[in-house]
Amino acid sequence: KAPWIGLIGLGTMGAALALNMAEKGWPVAVHNRTESVTQQFLKTAGPLASKLTGAPTLQALVDALTPPRAIILMVPAGEVVDQQIAALAPLLDPGDLIIDAGNANYLDTERRFHDSRGAGYDFMGIGVSGGEEGARHGPSIMAGGEARQWQRVGPLLRSIAARFQDEPCAALLGPGGAGHFVKMVHNGIEYADMQMIAETYAIMRDGLGLDAPRIADIFAGWNGGPLESYLIEISAEVLRAVDPLTGQPMPDVILDVAGQKGTGRWTAIEAQKLGVAIPVIEAAVAARNISARPEARARGAQTFGALPQRLPPDALPAADLEQALIAGKILCYAQGFEMMTASSTEFGWNLPLPVIAEIWRAGCIIRSAMLNDMAEALRNSPDDDLIFAPFFSAKLIHAEPALRRVVAAAMQAGIAVPALSAGLSWFDAMRTPRGSANLIQAQRDFFGAHGFVRIDGQDVPHGPWGAG
Ligand code: NDP
Repeated sequence: KAPWIGLIGLGTMGAALALNMAEKGWPVAVHNRTESVTQQFLKTAGPLASKLTGAPTLQALVDALTPPRAIILMVPAGEVVDQQIAALAPLLDPGDLIIDAGNANYLDTERRFHDSRGAGYDFMGIGVSGGEEGARHGPSIMAGGEARQWQRVGPLLRSIAARFQDEPCAALLGPGGAGHFVKMVHNGIEYADMQMIAETYAIMRDGLGLDAPRIADIFAGWNGGPLESYLIEISAEVLRAVDPLTGQPMPDVILDVAGQKGTGRWTAIEAQKLGVAIPVIEAAVAARNISARPEARARGAQTFGALPQRLPPDALPAADLEQALIAGKILCYAQGFEMMTASSTEFGWNLPLPVIAEIWRAGCIIRSAMLNDMAEALRNSPDDDLIFAPFFSAKLIHAEPALRRVVAAAMQAGIAVPALSAGLSWFDAMRTPRGSANLIQAQRDFFGAHGFVRIDGQDVPHGPWGAG
């Protein structure tokens, strides 16, 4: 049977996705800019090669597909995607569909979606999470596009997606850039999850003086409880690994400079545009930026004295760190979901939050046991902030004292915990009925005559400040 699905870009993700589709029984035509890569790919595909057709040119790819065609782009995000669309579009027939499955900025996806209208082809943007392993054996797929397009490719995408209790982790989340927007927030949360785990690691390593194998045991223990998640699991695993060159624990020989491709930064930027506070994610992005300045940090240690200091022995039980991480995680996800609610209002998307939590339960990097509880909480009270869902407010009430103890101890010892402390401050602000913005309103009115509202509801055009 001739394929109707094509794929361009046989790099890490594209090759894995093509094999995944072939394994699920879909014939796929593939094309790669460097032709030798296609040939090598087909050679190493084993029995799956019978489902795969190599195409040396774009025209050959289009010719190999039965209309209406669907062609997945798995190339670097940005200009390359625009170039591929420009080269492909003239070769397509009305009803053919281009799917960008890379990590596109959702604004680009919106633009490409609008450009496709009346241009003789359809366009969809889908976010794919799970890295190479996920792409090969089951990613989480966050799709954006029109219902009629999803009707065509939904069955294929659901068949290759990860499964949580037999439910595929793939869904159409909204029109245009909605899928890539959700993928962006997913990555922002991923930054924050990783940062908070790294902060508890720093407290154990520097504050409590624990070695890597001991910390690995503690993480592995947490993975048997409410924190059960892919990121906790792999944290234990990397802490157990040994450097073949020195025999030291592997993390001890890795430079403390975190890379980033920008999706966390995009999340922070878009949150600011939407006027939503996501301080835990912002702190995680900032922490990566600070990590990228090792010389300045070394100079800081020389000028101001090196930190951190050791905590008194037994200052913090591991159970406190576990509870702090549980609280931090709930607060961070609450902010991420709030951001998605705001985007729904702003763009008229109506993002289905419970479905998003559901398709994050397997396949993606942030998969965790807690996401199952979040999905249930969001289903029960879809219009409420996550922190007010009874299940999570009870968890926060229980975990808050530990979070406060952990942040306070870290501050005392000079261990930077920007994400956990940002979560705590946000939580404190969210339960302060009388905040301090009254003073800010007075200042604004003093220098800018902005006026203010009195506590009795009266609008005041200008206050009785000095002569003004
Ligand atoms: P790779 O670098 O492994 O592969 C890139 C692919 O794009 C190659 O097939 C390459 O072809 C092709 N390509 C590069 N430049 C051009 C160009 N100018 N014109 C045509 N083809 C080009 O990337 P990944 O597979 O890692 O990533 C692909 C997309 O998936 C990106 O958007 C990435 O952000 C996203 N993604 C990646 C994840 C990961 O874990 N790696 C996870 C989730 C999303 P050639 O062989 O000729 O160089």
